[in-house]
Amino acid sequence: MSHPTRRSLLKMATAASAIAATGTVPAIVHSAFADTPAAATKNGALPKSLPWRNWSGGQSCQPAQRIAPANEGELAELLRKVPTPIRAVGAGHSFSPVVPTDGTLVTLDRIAGVENINAKTHQADVLGGTRLYRMADDLADMGLAFDNMPDINKQSLAGAISTSTHGTGANIGSLSTFVQGLRLVTVSGRTIDCSATKNADLFQAARVSVGSLGLITKARVQARPLYKLKRRVWVQPVEEMLEALPELEAKHRNFEFYYVPYSGLALGISNDETDEAETPTLMNEDDDSLMQLKMLQDWLGWAPGMRRWAIQKAFGDYPVETRVDFSHKTLTSERGVRFNEMEYHLPREVAADALREIIKTIETNNIRVFFPIEFRTVAADDIWLSPFYGRKSASIAVHQFHEWDYHDYFAAVEAIYKKHEGRPHWGKINTLKAADFAALYPKWNDFLKIRKELDPTGKFLTPYMKDVFGVA
Ligand SMILES: Cc1cc2nc3c(=O)[nH]c(=O)nc-3n(C[C@H](O)[C@H](O)[C@H](O)COP(=O)(O)OP(=O)(O)OC[C@H]3O[C@@H](n4cnc5c(N)ncnc54)[C@H](O)[C@@H]3O)c2cc1C
Repeated sequence: MSHPTRRSLLKMATAASAIAATGTVPAIVHSAFADTPAAATKNGALPKSLPWRNWSGGQSCQPAQRIAPANEGELAELLRKVPTPIRAVGAGHSFSPVVPTDGTLVTLDRIAGVENINAKTHQADVLGGTRLYRMADDLADMGLAFDNMPDINKQSLAGAISTSTHGTGANIGSLSTFVQGLRLVTVSGRTIDCSATKNADLFQAARVSVGSLGLITKARVQARPLYKLKRRVWVQPVEEMLEALPELEAKHRNFEFYYVPYSGLALGISNDETDEAETPTLMNEDDDSLMQLKMLQDWLGWAPGMRRWAIQKAFGDYPVETRVDFSHKTLTSERGVRFNEMEYHLPREVAADALREIIKTIETNNIRVFFPIEFRTVAADDIWLSPFYGRKSASIAVHQFHEWDYHDYFAAVEAIYKKHEGRPHWGKINTLKAADFAALYPKWNDFLKIRKELDPTGKFLTPYMKDVFGVA
């Protein structure tokens, strides 16, 4: 997320403290994130495997076993004999319970790296466990880049495509659309390659499969020649931004905005291709800015009008920020302040009204939140379980500070998403079950058929995944 600069936020803090007057200022405590210590079992022995937690700390499990095979052969051998349910883990950056298992957790951290870059087709074979930052650096060394990137680059490639991870851009698809071919190792230890011309149905199912068809050990991805982007960040009243949306989406290669709760203001971010020289990297002040917004929630949560005044005062003379750099640098950010997130992908036509409704719900109910709401657009695709299947979409994401309960907030927003036939991000919080998904995905039954063929006894199915796929 891009947020106000340190200078403007210091002004905001000053304004807020003037209003808060004599109130006690609560300390801003940002608890460190650490794996929970291994708990002793009933007989006093330490468990065999370390507990696991995701990035936000909102999901955890105590797997009976963790495995990190060094190659496909070892993986195939292990999958046949380890305790079930078996779940793959990438970087653990999903918020929904798509990873936790009390069976076996498989990481492909040792099956990572970029190989076979084709200078003519700009395609590369990337191993499943490769983190996006490493892939982007390796591709850049060969003069190549992805057409788009998500907000961060810490995910594994296999994890990112398994949940249809996306960036923003009305005419650009999710990362799964860049995949030209996949290699899977199934639960029975079979290795299967698929592409648009080989095992074509499996390819349509496997490009977004939430870890339920097999372990993705390799993907052939389409890249393009390295390019630079000019990034602009500006502030505008949210209603003006919403009115100008069609024009902004058409004008800019990548356009997104964040609505700052209780402010009436939005931060627009555009990225457009350029040949201009790179500019110095700006200091990342997003985390400081978020903690300042948290402070305003803490001090002025009881007085939304004053909070709005303080934020608007700070944004009054917000300068347009510009930066030129290679695409994989301007499109991604560092996220130090942890949160939980819910994101749904809505038909593009209804998204502006849905956002208006979300803002109204938050502000009339004085919901406790300071994280900006993110609005992005994504092109339609034809991947069976892609939330972008058959429709140009707008993604609206709400975030809650990791130490605060998100349930009531997300429930209120999810009701709006559902009313507008939104499809949830597979890696983010949602409460949908098999019947809901079946109604939202035209190819749902085709996917279920392939899932059953590849994993007939449900070795990849945890109780959560059984609910998702409607397996008793
Ligand atoms: C700070 C932050 C920012 C984010 N920004 C964005 C964003 O801009 N856009 C967006 O769309 N999402 C975003 N996300 C969500 C994130 O991209 C997805 O949840 C993604 O799936 C995480 O990748 P991972 O490698 O951590 O996978 P994990 O969360 O570890 O796993 C995700 C799924 O992939 C499966 N999986 C993992 N590895 C394999 C494998 N080798 N074979 C088969 N299945 C596998 C897992 O079983 C699971 O079902 C963000 C998350 C965080 C925490």
